[in-house]
Amino acid sequence: MLKPDMDAALGEALREAHFISGAQVRRLEGELAEYVGVKHCITCANGTDALSLMLRAWGIGAGDAVFVPDFTFFASAETVRDRGATPIFVDVSRDTFNIDPQSLEECINKVAAKGRLRPKAVIPVDLFGMPADYGRIEEIARKHGLLLLEDGAQGFGGSQGGKMACSFGDAATTSFFPAKPLGCYGDGGAMFTNDDALAALVRSLAVHGKGGDKYDNVRIGVNSRLDTIQAAVLSVKLAALKSRELALVNSAADYYTERLASVAAVPTIPDGFTSSWAQYTLRLPDAATRDGLRAALSASGIPSMVYYPKRMSDQQAFADIIDEQVCSCPVAAELCGTVLALPIGPYITKTEQDEVVSAVLGYLRA
Ligand SMILES: *Cc1c(COP(=O)(O)O)cnc(C)c1O
Repeated sequence: MLKPDMDAALGEALREAHFISGAQVRRLEGELAEYVGVKHCITCANGTDALSLMLRAWGIGAGDAVFVPDFTFFASAETVRDRGATPIFVDVSRDTFNIDPQSLEECINKVAAKGRLRPKAVIPVDLFGMPADYGRIEEIARKHGLLLLEDGAQGFGGSQGGKMACSFGDAATTSFFPAKPLGCYGDGGAMFTNDDALAALVRSLAVHGKGGDKYDNVRIGVNSRLDTIQAAVLSVKLAALKSRELALVNSAADYYTERLASVAAVPTIPDGFTSSWAQYTLRLPDAATRDGLRAALSASGIPSMVYYPKRMSDQQAFADIIDEQVCSCPVAAELCGTVLALPIGPYITKTEQDEVVSAVLGYLRA
């Protein structure tokens, strides 16, 4: 369905041969900013760089505490540690998989009371496609003077209260890794903000700390750019996401929910929220049932995945900051043992979904 538009967009990019910083890149940034509803979009090489660049722009480093959900993809916390700051892991809500505002506030107070680290920022993650609870999180961040960075790598296309994902907080980031809701044909990422000065700063940091041009360098930066070819791909994919893919993936999710709600805990989308369904994740009663279901699906040739099998606080890479952790995260631990993601996407067919449904029902009702 995408092919004619994609061929045209790729053909143009190849003909022009302006492979880095071609016109398609700025054009895409305009389209993304307009769709999300923020003033500035700055593209970069991937979603991990987008997080790093924002943290770098804010000068976050040694001695700073940055609050991150314990149940997320590694990059949400890795980038914090890579800047020299300390990620503090916060428990998540069992129903939404997203950072639990009450846990967040408790963790902030505990870190402040301990007095070893400065509470500096919070990075809520829009896990599996649904925005975190920004209404409450923005209030907490304001009260405690924390910067708020939305990790929208999985959330692009979702919304809360009519506001699109990647428009929350002081700034937001996303990823265009192929499996994300808006994916390109390689790696890509973007940053979003309404703050003119911050936008100018991350744009400079992403291109060797450029001043007037890239041979005028006013600060130390990195090389993190979105290729012109990926920008051309993303323009076409964004149009498809808007015109049909979000609606299609939502009806696929609704169909799973209708068929499976009686045998497993299906994803909860609270009132006022919409998801872009990066994943469709079931919760099973215990690890044995989850692992058994996964094996049964696999035996029927149906792929499924565990996102995520290990929480951040159990990762070896964070062993050196375990003493700084002030909050236990029992829900994150429980989810690692009980979640299972089923195949989903805008182009999954009813027949494919029926195969998944009957395999799930067959195992869980046996
Ligand atoms: C994928 C992902 C990232 C990193 O994006 P890349 O483009 O792969 O670097 C960051 N955070 C979350 C929550 C992700 O899912």
